[in-house]
Amino acid sequence: MVTGRRSLNARYVVNTAGGMAMAVESGVRPQDLIIKPRCGQFLVFDRQGKDGIRHVLYQAQETDEKGCLLAPSTEGNIIAGPTSQDVPDYKNVETTDWGIHHIEKTAKKILPDLDMGKVITSFAGVRANIKNVVKEEKDFIIRRSVPRMVSALGIKNPGMTAAPYLCQMILDLLIEDGLCTAPNPDYCPVLDLPKPFLKQTENIQKKWYEQDHRYGNLVCRCEGITEGDILRVLREPLPPKNMNGLKKRLRTTMGRCQGSFCTPRILEILSREWSVPPEKIMKEAPGSPFVKGRVK
Ligand SMILES: Cc1cc2nc3c(=O)[nH]c(=O)nc-3n(C[C@H](O)[C@H](O)[C@H](O)COP(=O)(O)OP(=O)(O)OC[C@H]3O[C@@H](n4cnc5c(N)ncnc54)[C@H](O)[C@@H]3O)c2cc1C
Repeated sequence: MVTGRRSLNARYVVNTAGGMAMAVESGVRPQDLIIKPRCGQFLVFDRQGKDGIRHVLYQAQETDEKGCLLAPSTEGNIIAGPTSQDVPDYKNVETTDWGIHHIEKTAKKILPDLDMGKVITSFAGVRANIKNVVKEEKDFIIRRSVPRMVSALGIKNPGMTAAPYLCQMILDLLIEDGLCTAPNPDYCPVLDLPKPFLKQTENIQKKWYEQDHRYGNLVCRCEGITEGDILRVLREPLPPKNMNGLKKRLRTTMGRCQGSFCTPRILEILSREWSVPPEKIMKEAPGSPFVKGRVK
């Protein structure tokens, strides 16, 4: 296997590259599936407090797609969407005027009082949509692409919900090939990660603050994340390497201001901790800096 950095030799390859899985598989066998990218746009509303919703609210559909819905996020936001349009490429993750208006129109059929002034951001994702397999026969394809390589193909919605069973299907193939034995029944997949400082009890807050006063510096006001929280995750065994990594661990920049206030402060902290200039800190992939360079 050739990666962006080096070549790797593997005894076995499990190809779960999402929209790119077919391209990865095409390196070892001819393509027999037609998998096309289908984009879905979403709107995210600010936390709603007691005006929020508690359930996923669907509308009846005439097609086999689930249509545009409203759902509460685990943190109390509302998400509305998705749309559904074929796009040329998996890179097409932009939101559009049409998409935003379409979501507004359909979401307001469910909640007529939905306040569009509370939208804090929008985003899009692309589904891997298999075109030449009858959906009723096979939603998803988990197969041995060649000996010692398993691929998960066309994993669109409800791929996340179905993930535990899809993993079991992959595991069954690995067990059949003698790569591993049955899973350890005592393995607990739930990660018990510490909550941020402001969500801790007063006693723990006192203890942490005595150990490091930087727990007292509030950095992300919307999500209540302190400098101490950021430093703690940077010292974990698998620390984040960019702003999105940090966001996934701590929800920094995910609140009402969407990073307008805290991004410069976080860049400062990361720049100091990693001993690199702010322009070397990426949002995610290489080539996605927040800062182009110094003005003076
Ligand atoms: C708009 C939309 C709505 C959805 N709604 C739902 C829903 O309501 N319920 C539900 O259950 N599911 C839903 N899904 C589907 C769900 O998100 C996907 O099925 C699931 O994320 C697929 O998981 P995956 O691990 O196969 O792929 P992904 O989550 O796409 O992960 C693939 C990973 O592989 C990496 N990768 C790609 N190429 C390479 C490479 N060459 N080398 C190394 N890494 C690589 C990518 O960076 C990525 O991290 C929705 C999806 C979309 C887009």
